[in-house]
Amino acid sequence: MPTCVECGAPVTNLYTEYSKGNIRLTPCEKCKKFADKYVEHDFVIIFIDMLLHKPQVYRHLLFNRLEYRDHGIDPNVFKLGILLILFDVYIKWFRLEKYYTASNIPFIEQPVFLQYLYILFLCVIEFVVFQFGVRLAVSFYIGDKYAIIKYNYIAIALIISSFGKILLILMVIWDYNGLEYSWLINIVVLTSNVEALAGN
Ligand SMILES: [Zn+2]
Repeated sequence: MPTCVECGAPVTNLYTEYSKGNIRLTPCEKCKKFADKYVEHDFVIIFIDMLLHKPQVYRHLLFNRLEYRDHGIDPNVFKLGILLILFDVYIKWFRLEKYYTASNIPFIEQPVFLQYLYILFLCVIEFVVFQFGVRLAVSFYIGDKYAIIKYNYIAIALIISSFGKILLILMVIWDYNGLEYSWLINIVVLTSNVEALAGN
């Protein structure tokens, strides 16, 4: 069921279409604001609001944009998850190489293929541990408040809100030394994670 992005109440529909391209947003009965203003916004606005940590934009993406699922995650979100892991592999590899060059220790004497597999393995483990860690924390935190916790939505929220990691790639392209500030982006990713979870 569509959800009001402002207050989280369920609504019957988000808009009424009078003719092609002529739509009217439905106001929410509970908070009286438009149930989902993002229906009319394009992707740039949605992206900026994600950067600005607006909880409404996460409700829009999770409940109104993606098809409702009882379990499992949307194939597109899954692809984004894979992409984020691969980005992580690249960044970790890059850092290791830099570290070894700076300290004059020869980089691990293994074929590139094995190095890649090793770092990929580390990143997948890190991803899985993070996902389960957050699930555990959420189940402790709201364990008795709700009868059912939708864990697949927690996973989706975490993946979508980690979009900031993509910015790290830009830093690599622009200036290699910029990676020293990558912790800033990690903080942005972390706060987006928190915001997306809180929006649920
Ligand atoms: Zn509302």
